Amino acid sequence: MSNNSNVVDNLISKLSKLPGIGRKTAQRLSFYLLKLPREEVIGLARALVDIKDKIKYCKVCFNISEGELCKFCRSEKRDKSVICVVEEPNDIYFIEKTNEYRGLYHVLGGVLSPLNGIGVEDLKIKELIKRLDEKVKEVIIAINPSVEGEATILYLSKIIKPLGKKVTRLARGIPVGGDLEYTDEVTVSKALEGRIDV
Ligand code: ZN
Repeated sequence: MSNNSNVVDNLISKLSKLPGIGRKTAQRLSFYLLKLPREEVIGLARALVDIKDKIKYCKVCFNISEGELCKFCRSEKRDKSVICVVEEPNDIYFIEKTNEYRGLYHVLGGVLSPLNGIGVEDLKIKELIKRLDEKVKEVIIAINPSVEGEATILYLSKIIKPLGKKVTRLARGIPVGGDLEYTDEVTVSKALEGRIDV
């Protein structure tokens, strides 16, 4: 039994459910928060609630957005002839950090995974196909090369190529099964630059 109060225990148990945070870290964070001034804790709590209340998904590319369209889809400066396909909104952040890419994005919402019951209908694939008008010349598939990722890349290539679009994927250099998240920006940048036809 712990000697914490129920209120503190509740916070520890909630925090320890977050990715990368074990029980010990959750405990440390909880006691740290306990010592913070009230307004700082309220600021943090407000920021947490805001991501649920204020963040929506872009109706074109499914990136996170505060309005109907995300900042990339709204921008006049982005190159509308290239669409980079990623698994999650988080991946966009890592590609943007390279400062190499000026095109648009499309967030699939995952990869094909028959074992987990994730099929074509569960991903934003038909929404991607709908975007491929004559302005779009190239689709870069920036999906992690896990077994499921590879199957997804092949599937996308098979349906996009007949539409007359160039389909490329990131060059090797991103570790197999590795997430973009764990790859530094130089590697992502090289992988983008040396992208290869699928
Ligand atoms: Zn968008």
